[in-house]
Amino acid sequence: MSFDGHIHLWNENSIPCKDFPERLKKAGVSGGLLMSLPPPSFRSEVNLPAPVRIEHLFAWHALQPGLWPFFWVDPTEKDAEKQLEKAAEAGVKGFKVICDHFFPGEERPMQIFQRIADMGFPIVFHSGCLANGRDSSNFNRPMNFECMIRVRKLRFSMAHIGWPWCDEYAALFLLLKIQEKKHPDNCKMFVDNTVGTPDIYRKPVFEKLISVCEPKERMYFGADQLAENYDDRQVAWYLNRDAGLYRELGLTQKEIRNLHEDNLRKFVEGDLQSYGNPA
Ligand SMILES: [Zn+2]
Repeated sequence: MSFDGHIHLWNENSIPCKDFPERLKKAGVSGGLLMSLPPPSFRSEVNLPAPVRIEHLFAWHALQPGLWPFFWVDPTEKDAEKQLEKAAEAGVKGFKVICDHFFPGEERPMQIFQRIADMGFPIVFHSGCLANGRDSSNFNRPMNFECMIRVRKLRFSMAHIGWPWCDEYAALFLLLKIQEKKHPDNCKMFVDNTVGTPDIYRKPVFEKLISVCEPKERMYFGADQLAENYDDRQVAWYLNRDAGLYRELGLTQKEIRNLHEDNLRKFVEGDLQSYGNPA
């Protein structure tokens, strides 16, 4: 069984659907990240206040308590700190942020990122182009996230491997890894390799990431499916396809297991060796 590190809730009216756990099982997925409905700034149809989105997240989470619930926060909202507290009280294990109308390095988002790190939670960011019909991809260029170096002890991942800026993504990973070796309290970047990259890019990008940056210790799988309509056959196909690519690139069964399971656990639970403190 594998973990799916990228499952969204999308429909503001969705009622927890009893066949969701069955679909996960059919896909070969036993755990993963379940992300709440987006904030209104991302999707105006979902004009729901944070407490209602938290409640909706936990209603779905009850169906599959093995998933880690993540709350999607807009760090520019005035009451963002309060939202973090409410979400933490409810039992979330981390936060999701998409920079769709602000740069990550702006003052207000950076305060919220530091707050999340101080609370001990990880953040999943989007990276790469953003297909939302607005001119927002530029906020998500990987190098814009170099500012995370100023967020002490943050664990963060960047979804979709930064496509089309995959080289920039690999370079950022490498830069941060070098800094982490010097200063173990620095931020720790994880690679969320959730689909979104056209298939033809997948193998060359994995090859670069794995050989140059050793992210096999910090990379995890995601399928970017909606919980409301989880396509088990598609997810099973992705898992199988990626395992085949990893084998072609010479990874061992143990390393593939890490990519499909253990690395996500390390990301969420923070149980990891820093590059500065090798085991
Ligand atoms: Zn996503």
